[in-house]
Amino acid sequence: MELEGGCACRAVRYRLLAAPLIVHACHCRDCQRITGSAFVINIWIERRFVETGPVLPRSFKLTAGTGKAHEVFFCDACATTVWSRYHAPPGDTLFVRAGTLDRPEAVEPDVHIFTRSKLPWVVLPAGVPAFESMYGDFASVWSAESLARFRRNAAEHVR
Ligand SMILES: [Zn+2]
Ligand SMILES: [Zn+2]
Repeated sequence: MELEGGCACRAVRYRLLAAPLIVHACHCRDCQRITGSAFVINIWIERRFVETGPVLPRSFKLTAGTGKAHEVFFCDACATTVWSRYHAPPGDTLFVRAGTLDRPEAVEPDVHIFTRSKLPWVVLPAGVPAFESMYGDFASVWSAESLARFRRNAAEHVR
């Protein structure tokens, strides 16, 4: 899977060098505000697999529900949010906004989270797992392959 994308003004460009670990649709209020929309589509992936062009996004920090930092990266020129980095999970991973892909139809959410603040008119697809908040048991949601990749990444980036 070759996924490329970038911001609206095309200054920030990126390419994903691996398949997503998992794709989240997050319906939390922060994601609604940041996107100005009903939910965000996040590709969770190791940072090393996000190859960036010459222009890097800037960032600001919010406090996530975990109490740890949620760093949001955006284009300095057009303010498109391109990815986030959550400091709570182990390892060095990013949450790349699937709406910034050149072909956003290339991915679909594997799981819907924070459905407690889902807008009432959003109808979740049948057969896709959904959780009121963040799920705790990764093994029941993730593929074995992604779980192995995630654990490997966490072991390589002990903080
Ligand atoms: Zn831009
Ligand atoms: Zn969220």
